[in-house]
Amino acid sequence: MSDRSQPISRRGLFRALARPFSRHLDEHGGADASLVNGSAKDSEAEPVPKKAVIQGRFCLAYQGSMCFTCSERCPEPGAITTDKGIPTVHADRCTGCSICHDLCPAPRNAILMVDQSPSRDGIHP
Ligand code: SF4
Ligand code: SF4
Repeated sequence: MSDRSQPISRRGLFRALARPFSRHLDEHGGADASLVNGSAKDSEAEPVPKKAVIQGRFCLAYQGSMCFTCSERCPEPGAITTDKGIPTVHADRCTGCSICHDLCPAPRNAILMVDQSPSRDGIHP
């Protein structure tokens, strides 16, 4: 007899969802409908907003090479500006779309997408 009133841990929920859906239903019958519904809510949860941050030590422009990929391809006006070829991300304008990260040609991607932080603006390390 299954105990439908037992709470399930988050880990247990993920394990359950990783199984084929039919098997999952076979094992738990309709008892986990609430889990399925709960997981749907989880998957619909708002993602953590991200912001781009340029790591100077990996950035080609910082190393003296010409590179304007991020500033040219950023779709958000003013989110990346350059001064003497050096890019700066303006966190207040960055939407976190990750295009700059995806297109950065540096051997070690110079753009990190980090959790939004109101105090972050621009480049650093
Ligand atoms: S695309 Fe990458 S390497 Fe090029 S300037 Fe931007 S951060 Fe630097
Ligand atoms: S994450 Fe998107 S909006 Fe933000 S700086 Fe990069 S390309 Fe621009």
